[in-house]
Amino acid sequence: KPSKPSSVSPAPDEPTDHHPSDTIINLDHGDPTMYESYWKVVGQKYTSITIPGFQSLSYFANKKNLCWFLEPKLEEEIKRLHKMVGNAIVENRHIVVGTGSSQLILAALYALSDPLNEPNPISVVSAAPYYSSYPEMTDFLRSGLFKWSGDARCFNKEGPYIEMVTYPNNPDGVIREPVVNRANGMLVHDLAYYWPQYTAITSPADHDIILFTVSKCTGHAGSRIGWALVRNENIARKMVKFIEVNTIGVSKEAQLRAANILETISLSCQRHKPRDLENFFECSQRLMAERWKKLREAVDNNELFYVPKFPIQFCNFTRDFTETYPAFAWLKCKEGMDCEKLLRGHKILTRSGRRFGSGAEYVRISMLSRDEEFDLFLQRLSAVGGDNN
Ligand code: PMP
Repeated sequence: KPSKPSSVSPAPDEPTDHHPSDTIINLDHGDPTMYESYWKVVGQKYTSITIPGFQSLSYFANKKNLCWFLEPKLEEEIKRLHKMVGNAIVENRHIVVGTGSSQLILAALYALSDPLNEPNPISVVSAAPYYSSYPEMTDFLRSGLFKWSGDARCFNKEGPYIEMVTYPNNPDGVIREPVVNRANGMLVHDLAYYWPQYTAITSPADHDIILFTVSKCTGHAGSRIGWALVRNENIARKMVKFIEVNTIGVSKEAQLRAANILETISLSCQRHKPRDLENFFECSQRLMAERWKKLREAVDNNELFYVPKFPIQFCNFTRDFTETYPAFAWLKCKEGMDCEKLLRGHKILTRSGRRFGSGAEYVRISMLSRDEEFDLFLQRLSAVGGDNN
């Protein structure tokens, strides 16, 4: 989740050519600026759209659709992309578009709570380390409908509950499954990172509520477009109602741009694609693999830090074996150390493990920054080890 850029960081859209030694590197949030380099090469030709002034005035995008504010073009491109990548089943599912998947997380919590039958707020849990926004979002408005109840592994209350299942997981990249596993549980699968650049696509996801976002798929976090694939019609209707009351729909300009971006990605993966359009997932997987290799080299030469290893699996999309290359590194320091504080002392801002329900010896570090920032980060990380060895 973005936090305000620090005063010494460059403005978000300003490329950084050089970094003086006192520049703070902000890797606290998962701002996906790494993808700019791909879009700079292909963007101008394939993804520039113009929306004339007379278009998209109405609140409505498709009155016949359950999700009446969903642009038909976006729906079509979402389906096309999932079918091509094979990461989710779209047949017989309702698609609900949201202002980022953030809005859809809250829409799902609203839709799953049942105030008529449950007088008390329903418990919301996720296995630690969990995405730090789940507790914040759940309790922000002190809703009477739902309440954050912490680490799913420690959850022992009777009654219905909602479990957030994230795979690959933010922050640690693990492929998760539900952990509470009781009959009265309801699941929300947050698959923001279930794309081929981050992990092997082993089977199409087939769950009751699945959340995706363009932010982590294509890097267009600023468009604020996410979507939910929902099996049950009533739940989908309630999610649509939430968005209706919250924002009366989702920006059409953003949806049309997102549709255009997704269309370009699908085209880039076709066998008979234009020659100057590089396969998006191949290109971004290569970037992620290079970054993880460099990070592992830096950490292997350093006694202070440890990063998790991931199994190699067959990816049905790339038709090849691949490791998981998470969007975040879940870095562990020696026991008893405050890793966030240590790195802050070296002008690297990260998010402490405590925010994810874990210990202070962990930090989450974004792997999706621009090249210059990432390289500088590695240099500084090596220097931290140097001080202490
Ligand atoms: N879920 C997870 C697991 C995430 O990491 C993020 C972004 N950090 C989101 C949801 C929200 O993404 P957005 O609102 O940008 O779609």
